[in-house]
Amino acid sequence: MNKVKLGISNRHAHLTREHIDKLFGKSYSLNVKKYLMDKENFAAEETVILKKGDFQIENVRIIGPERLRTQIEILESDQKYLDIESSRRDSGDLKETPGLTIIGPKGTVELCEGVILARTHIHLIEEEARKLGLINKKKVKLMHPKKGLICDDATLCIIKDGSSQIHMDKEEAKKFDLGNDEELIIS
Ligand SMILES: [Zn+2]
Repeated sequence: MNKVKLGISNRHAHLTREHIDKLFGKSYSLNVKKYLMDKENFAAEETVILKKGDFQIENVRIIGPERLRTQIEILESDQKYLDIESSRRDSGDLKETPGLTIIGPKGTVELCEGVILARTHIHLIEEEARKLGLINKKKVKLMHPKKGLICDDATLCIIKDGSSQIHMDKEEAKKFDLGNDEELIIS
């Protein structure tokens, strides 16, 4: 089965323990709003404000659990609005990325680097990947049954369990008028 459902994401923040402490208070624990498909990551109840110069974006959802590095995933329009030169990247590839200011209820963080536009990626369960002969980090094409080619460089992230899902940001999805749970074909 080379069809995988789409999960559309909004801008969000992954934070380190240290940054959660600074933004929400020492040893603060994020509250789960909703677990994501991989059953490990969750959308937290908590949000932060992203600020650069005179411009800011409020209500930016935190995706938990805490990470070893803070990573802020923004949209193309946010990049223009905040006047930030970020680039399309895989999660974790933060070298020479821009920073910004993160504001929480208890403090702020001046982030030096970590702002990206997330590249469309597929969380594919191991078993399916094996059947399709695909290896982790491989770049694949995503096709829509009617609309044709959607993405020619989606990154494969193999997961142990949970369910397979394609992650695309909402502005990328809008370009092709795609909705949540629509199925795309890996080719
Ligand atoms: Zn993802």
